[in-house]
Amino acid sequence: MEMLIEIVYFLSAVVFIFGLKQMSSPVTARQGIVWAGIAMVIASLFTFGDPAVLHNTGNLGWIVLAIVMGSAIAYVTAKRVAMTDMPQMIAIYNGMGGGAAAAIAAVELVKVAGGAPAPATTVLVLAVLGAVIGAVSFSGSAIAFAKLQGLINKTIRLPMHMMINLMMFAVALAIGGMMAFTGEIDPNMLLIFFVVTLVFGVMFTLPIGGADMPVVISLFNALTGLAVAFEGFVLQNAAMIIAGTVVGSSGTLLTQLMAKAMNRPISNVLFSSFGSSTGEAADEEIAGSMKEIQGYDAAIMMAYASKVIIVPGYGMAVAQAQHKLKELEALLEERGVTVKYAIHPVAGRMPGHMNVLLAEAGVDYDKILDLDEINPEFPTAEVALVIGANDVVNPVARSNPDSPIYGMPILDADKAQNTIVIKRGRGAGFSGIENHLFYADNTRMLYGDGQKAVAELIAGIKQL
Ligand code: NDP
Repeated sequence: MEMLIEIVYFLSAVVFIFGLKQMSSPVTARQGIVWAGIAMVIASLFTFGDPAVLHNTGNLGWIVLAIVMGSAIAYVTAKRVAMTDMPQMIAIYNGMGGGAAAAIAAVELVKVAGGAPAPATTVLVLAVLGAVIGAVSFSGSAIAFAKLQGLINKTIRLPMHMMINLMMFAVALAIGGMMAFTGEIDPNMLLIFFVVTLVFGVMFTLPIGGADMPVVISLFNALTGLAVAFEGFVLQNAAMIIAGTVVGSSGTLLTQLMAKAMNRPISNVLFSSFGSSTGEAADEEIAGSMKEIQGYDAAIMMAYASKVIIVPGYGMAVAQAQHKLKELEALLEERGVTVKYAIHPVAGRMPGHMNVLLAEAGVDYDKILDLDEINPEFPTAEVALVIGANDVVNPVARSNPDSPIYGMPILDADKAQNTIVIKRGRGAGFSGIENHLFYADNTRMLYGDGQKAVAELIAGIKQL
């Protein structure tokens, strides 16, 4: 039976990696998730064949109950969650993974504290490392969730915050090291160890600004993977080792890519407060005024253009305007207008947010272009249609070194011959700062909910 379990773990790992590979393209991503999920379910089911689990019949009922409850909660919440709330859901589920890894470590360490013979030092070291990383990921992800959910609106920074963090980290490592290398675990010390690591996760995440949360979530995701891999070594479970390592490495890559998209080193993301709502945004005086345009006039501009670039942002997701945009694209193309979509890596509220919505509406993948690909094309477009995007088209990121978004690469919508901006009013973007693009001479504001405004454009073009 043990041999069979190992083979199933190996096959599950292969399918898991295959699923992950499929996630690299929007065409196959959905399928990839399903494959990876199936692999995990099979690996989990075969774990019940493990003699260690089977002989532990006292806990079997609890295990099944926990799985049923967890699956039911996950199913209901995942079905109900709004697309715009997806980042916080990922944060909380990822935190649960870290918490589970830390719990496995806790069980192993409690056994030793209770008098069971200590395993080899290597195993104890891995258990302790997994405990630290998993616990930090758990409590840190909970704070990330609270920030994205709007439950914590401020970045909280205590006096000597960094020093306190360093001290807590050192204490956790010192106690952990002592437990691992002596093999003697005092229950009180173990308790202090977990409390300190959990509080460290909270303190580490509190000062990080809201706009950096996606990078932080991605980092915690990588850490959870690593913690699971360490605990896989402790339990001698190949599926956990492989899955954890893969999640750890892909999470690290994603973290790097996202930090790069914001043009900031990871250290700057983790130890500054970009996107905080503490009023750090240094707004300059803006010359000019916002000039309104009516739907019909905007429709004429677009219908007689040869190229239109659509720049979607968070507001498109709120308005669920992607289907209307697809309809607009079809109408424009019937008239011989070339239509492309420009996607900023942090547009919306999660990586790939815009791509997922546009794919859902049936937009061709080859019309959806990344920042580097599309930016040189803006000067050749008669119209850039910005719908619900704000920070990702704010030229202040190029011009004002005092701005909190300075240095972030932006989509050059201001370089198009004309820019039409759809938004409901004067609402600021996620970073809370004014957008100079809206005041530019060649920018016109089409006020209204995204879906309604695009419907007006469609109606306007149909009248021509
Ligand atoms: P922003 O959040 O900067 O701006 C969105 C704009 O959409 C607002 O100005 C708002 O103006 C408008 N809007 C809101 N609802 C509607 C609606 N129903 N119809 C029309 N317009 C609407 O969006 P961006 O996509 O430009 O930028 C994303 C920001 O989020 C970046 O700062 C990024 O760092 C941050 N972020 C990104 C994450 C990611 O992983 N992608 C995760 C977390 C944060 P008004 O109220 O006037 O309508």
